[in-house]
Amino acid sequence: MSVVDRQEWDVVVVGAGGAGLRAAIEARERGARTAVICKSLFGKAHTVMAEGGIAAAMGNANPHDNWQVHFRDTMRGGKFLNQWRMSELHAREAPDRVWELETWGALFDRTKDGRISQRNFGGHEYPRLAHVGDRTGLELIRTLQQKIVALQQEDEKETGDHESRLKVFQECTVTRILKDGDRVSGVFAYERESGRFFVLEAPAVVIATGGIGKSFKVTSNSWEYTGDGHALALLAGAPLLNMEFVQFHPTGMVWPPSVKGILVTESVRGDGGVLRNSDGKRFMFDYIPDIFKEKYAESEEEGDRWYEDPDNNRRPPELLPRDEVARAINAEVKAGRGSPHGGVFLDVSTRMPAEVIRRRLPSMYHQFKELADVDITAEAMEVGPTCHYVMGGIAVDSDTAAARGVPGLYAAGEVAGGMHGSNRLGGNSLSDLLVFGRRAGLHAAEYTTGLADRPSVDDVQVDAAAAEALRPFSAEGPVPGEDIEERSRPPENPYTLHQELQQTMNDLVGIIRRESEMQQAMKKLAELRVRARRAGVEGHRQFNPGWHLALDLRNMLLVSECVARAALERTESRGGHTREDCPTMERAWRRLILLCRLADPTGGLAATDPVRGQITLTRETTEPIRPDLLALFEKEELVKYLAEEELYE
Ligand code: FAD
Repeated sequence: MSVVDRQEWDVVVVGAGGAGLRAAIEARERGARTAVICKSLFGKAHTVMAEGGIAAAMGNANPHDNWQVHFRDTMRGGKFLNQWRMSELHAREAPDRVWELETWGALFDRTKDGRISQRNFGGHEYPRLAHVGDRTGLELIRTLQQKIVALQQEDEKETGDHESRLKVFQECTVTRILKDGDRVSGVFAYERESGRFFVLEAPAVVIATGGIGKSFKVTSNSWEYTGDGHALALLAGAPLLNMEFVQFHPTGMVWPPSVKGILVTESVRGDGGVLRNSDGKRFMFDYIPDIFKEKYAESEEEGDRWYEDPDNNRRPPELLPRDEVARAINAEVKAGRGSPHGGVFLDVSTRMPAEVIRRRLPSMYHQFKELADVDITAEAMEVGPTCHYVMGGIAVDSDTAAARGVPGLYAAGEVAGGMHGSNRLGGNSLSDLLVFGRRAGLHAAEYTTGLADRPSVDDVQVDAAAAEALRPFSAEGPVPGEDIEERSRPPENPYTLHQELQQTMNDLVGIIRRESEMQQAMKKLAELRVRARRAGVEGHRQFNPGWHLALDLRNMLLVSECVARAALERTESRGGHTREDCPTMERAWRRLILLCRLADPTGGLAATDPVRGQITLTRETTEPIRPDLLALFEKEELVKYLAEEELYE
């Protein structure tokens, strides 16, 4: 038996982005001793990169805004596949979560009369994004971090130990959720710097690990986004929901190659930026789908007037939901009307004075100046789609954020599925992670308090997790379950495997999908899964990035298989899932969700076998949308989305 340090906590939160920190604050305030564990430095999570703002119907910029309008926009954006109760809670609670941030010290940009300023974003009927220039995520994390330190100071006064009730384990990676029977009993983790293993015992674990973008070659996501939380949940026996829905943000940088994929915030369009093709045409007017026709301007003049007079004009089509804009850009480039480096042009230079651009979009100004030597106050940016966000995720209960089927497991933020349906609106992630981060922390704490007995950690599972983590150091030895031919193969380089995975997902399960290509992707993923058993590294456990990647590969491969399986299954196009061979949105699919599980029925450590540990997929029919929520829409609109039997009901 390996000797591994252990500590006891009530709640362990995996991830210190917005969702994780909000969950930790709530759990601690509800009396649970709470540990937070994160891969990067405290304060450096992906949330820091968020630019445009937090969507919340506060009605500061337009008094007509309210939670019902926000709910409607979110459902439309998600093409009615949203877990509607989540979208309702989100729209109702987001304003309180923003106010709360302010009381904790967040400094938002202001309107002239001193209220929190709100900006326009795609798919939102009114200006709704509370923001801090284009660095909103940084302020959000700074505020939550400050709140955590304040709570720790309270604990120091009371107990003499500032970490007695709330402790952050930074630069540590969780590789397994541990279980006692069906119930969660803790997590197994390693320190990235020293390679030391340790266990945090806890009856409740909140997964808040963010997204999966690093499985794709062109992405706006940071190095942390290797789908760890999604995979941890699968391995613990919880299903993933609707993994086919991956958002390709329309505007990532396309040049130079070293920065391809880095995000160009939607605020650029929200503040007046326009998209043009190589002929100089504002092409988005040609791409307004029927379901959105009534809501978008028909001419450039009307679209431009909307910025000054939104009540009497319709918004420009550059502000359609992201999936629509990304597909339009893709089509323009394919038709030979792209920019020199394979994107299209995004222009603010002819739309605003230079000093306004520098004030409203400071990060974008510096990003282009420093990375591409482009002055956005004088010339257009070149942009194209980039893998940005995953709508699919851990299947959770809408009210409690409890993961399905695994008592003690909770999920919030980007890692949780359902809230955004088939496509997320910009700004709705930061509000999502505040609303459901709080709910996850609250219910995890309540669950722990209500337990009659604490689950115990099983030594066999700890040993198996340690052996699994050490496996890349002995890739030349036999791997359990492999055949003679495999055994004679040399170790595989984890970086090569990762590159092949990214290329496969980008080319075969990317923005436009076809059945034959996804079949090809499935074959390639199966091959990579077998080769990844031999992913080997040299050296030792002290800060060894190759080793970290070898461990992350398990997660990326599992998650990629879920994406490809679900994308093959859904024979329609909806939101972030576009099938060239099934180009229309089918009403019959409206109520169907897809659930991925690990095929290995033990769902436990045995499921690491890459051949047996495959994904099974089931369809499920969702609960009908509550009538009072349906009543918020016009009948003519519902006809476009709802299945035949729903309309009848
Ligand atoms: P994160 O903030 O990513 O946090 C994940 C945490 O989990 C990290 O601490 C990480 O270290 C940790 N972690 C991961 N795996 C493990 C593991 N195995 N063990 C331990 N810890 C682990 N959304 C908006 O609403 N508005 C915006 O303006 C906006 N702008 C964006 C701009 C950019 C460039 C990008 C990339 C995204 C943007 N988004 C925006 C999306 C939004 O930022 C993310 O969806 C959101 O921040 C996710 O937050 P989270 O708390 O779920 O995860």
